[in-house]
Amino acid sequence: QDNRFQAIIAHAKEYGFVFPSSEIYDGLSAVYDYGPWGSELKKNIRDYWWKSMTQLHENIVGVDAAIFMHPTTWKASGHVDNFSDPMIDNKDSNKRYRVDHLIEAHAEKLALEGKKEEEYALLKAMDELIAKDDFTGLKQLIDDHKIVCTVSGTSNWTDIRQFNLMFKTEFGAIASDSPDDNIVYLRPETAQGIFVNFLNVQKTARMKIPFGIAQTGKAFRNEIVARQFIFRMREFEQMEMQFFVRPGTEGDWYKYWKQARLDWHLSLGIPADKYRYHDHVKLAHYAKEACDIEFEFPIGFKEVEGIHSRSDFDLTQHQLYSRKKQQYFDNEIDHATGKPYGNYVPYVIETSIGLDRMFLLILSHAYDEETITKEDGSSDSRVVLKIPPKLAPVKLAILPLLKKDGLPELARQLMDDCKQDFRCFYEEKDAIGKRYRRQDAIGTPFCVTIDHQTKEDGTVTIRERDSMQQRRIKLTDVRQEINRFM
Ligand code: ATP
Repeated sequence: QDNRFQAIIAHAKEYGFVFPSSEIYDGLSAVYDYGPWGSELKKNIRDYWWKSMTQLHENIVGVDAAIFMHPTTWKASGHVDNFSDPMIDNKDSNKRYRVDHLIEAHAEKLALEGKKEEEYALLKAMDELIAKDDFTGLKQLIDDHKIVCTVSGTSNWTDIRQFNLMFKTEFGAIASDSPDDNIVYLRPETAQGIFVNFLNVQKTARMKIPFGIAQTGKAFRNEIVARQFIFRMREFEQMEMQFFVRPGTEGDWYKYWKQARLDWHLSLGIPADKYRYHDHVKLAHYAKEACDIEFEFPIGFKEVEGIHSRSDFDLTQHQLYSRKKQQYFDNEIDHATGKPYGNYVPYVIETSIGLDRMFLLILSHAYDEETITKEDGSSDSRVVLKIPPKLAPVKLAILPLLKKDGLPELARQLMDDCKQDFRCFYEEKDAIGKRYRRQDAIGTPFCVTIDHQTKEDGTVTIRERDSMQQRRIKLTDVRQEINRFM
């Protein structure tokens, strides 16, 4: 499994999907850049999510809030006081670990050695100690299990400390007595930009409860990282939707969104057995119900998305700190009383998915090393990305068989016709087999080859990526044929 993960990372780099950030300076830990095909794939995932939320739900609208927010936002939301993880340093290597990651990695090792019961006991003990914020106990657990640092090989640990995950920076020069007045945070989640705009959006878009606000954008967390490629980054993108409901109806809406979000994943044609729910037992103090949607990544089942029933916590907190009412007037009649429901602070169901994590999900699902038996009985191999066509970076490769006899001109005409509708790729270099392989490697679902027969009868060969089957269709039908899959 680890080999597969390493192969995917190498492939992502070699074929222009994901590069380490500032690589010529040896990269920056847990920060990545998206290349030509990566940026297309990422955009397509974002668009697919955005369309499913806003275009397909009349009662969901979008916002695009700033990354910088008033510092009080993060006091109100609880992030200044609570958004931290317990961490520990190894005295010999100076490597810093999140305590839960360190213990989980050790538990995984136990599992691999077949010590299932020990693994289970360790994880259970950890959960209990974390729930009680018992750092002395956690340190004892690490010592008892003689957990070592993979870099130094020693178990010479510091005490456990809380480490706030928010990045801080300074905001211009403000004349003030306290230097703290200049501090702003890079947002650690996009959700708060939605909450502080709740009334602006509700009033201007004339929304009636129940309604949602969707947003995609960058978020920043100073994660103590185990190396996990784009699974856990310090700068990443979130796609979040906050759904505002009448108090008392949150249970039903939570169920609705829990199912709707899984359905969204399945609509991409990924098998259901790759997914599972993880219902949270330990809830944040404000949460009523919460679950993760987990996917079987090459590194095991891990969270890709969270669905949280957040009660009226966030809006109430902002009401308290801003001293501005965050209420909605509901004029619908409550049949129990015969009167309108009136003023209240709405309850919220949140769906929150990491765009980069979804990208990794698609890549992990799509990556395939295949052995192919050729017509003459010999075998060959290929690496293919079986990306759902809707999300593929390039939809159609247009390949003239030869660089002469008017074939490139015909291919160019097709290119001009199709590129208005979807991303095409023109290539005339190398043998056709080699060109097919390169398209397989970036996940292009269709290739069209223009040959001499095209000049005679106006047909082309269309090759399908996954089955590698080829058939002839009319040149003039190509655009429509590809559009069927978009
Ligand atoms: P984790 O337990 O993995 O740290 P979380 O529970 O803190 O995640 P949330 O705060 O619920 O995550 O964020 C919602 C989503 O944002 C996650 O499901 C994940 O897809 C994504 N996400 C969170 N942190 C990161 C990160 N450091 N890098 C990439 N994506 C992230």
